[in-house]
Amino acid sequence: MISLPADVPTPQADAWELEFWAHCAARRLMFQSCAACGRVRHPPMPFCPACRSTEVRWREADGDAQLFTWTVVHHPSHPSLVPAVPYIVAVVEFPALDHVRLLTNLVGVPADTVRIGMALSLVWEEPKRGVVLPRFTAAGDAS
Ligand SMILES: [Zn+2]
Repeated sequence: MISLPADVPTPQADAWELEFWAHCAARRLMFQSCAACGRVRHPPMPFCPACRSTEVRWREADGDAQLFTWTVVHHPSHPSLVPAVPYIVAVVEFPALDHVRLLTNLVGVPADTVRIGMALSLVWEEPKRGVVLPRFTAAGDAS
């Protein structure tokens, strides 16, 4: 289920995001959480926004994902995305992980079937060798 062109710009990780993308490269969706108070956060950052602790642990998303919001993009934001339009940009949340949210895409989901709160399944795309991106499809449709 590849939907991204190979020449699509890929994430340019800052120092705090490197570990998140390393987990993705291993096809594990992991979110940073506070080792002191347990709050889950994304994107990764150097301290907890709730208690200011710098102690971190990583928690894996267990597949309990649901759609928070979405939009259909008809005008590509980069020339490489011209063949990919229309595509769906989505904010996915993980209720079991403090409702942490991830900006991503829905793939293989017709826009007329998308509903806020729908259950989603994680799928991985590798548009470039070694660049592995988390995407989502309707629950039960992952392949
Ligand atoms: Zn904390």
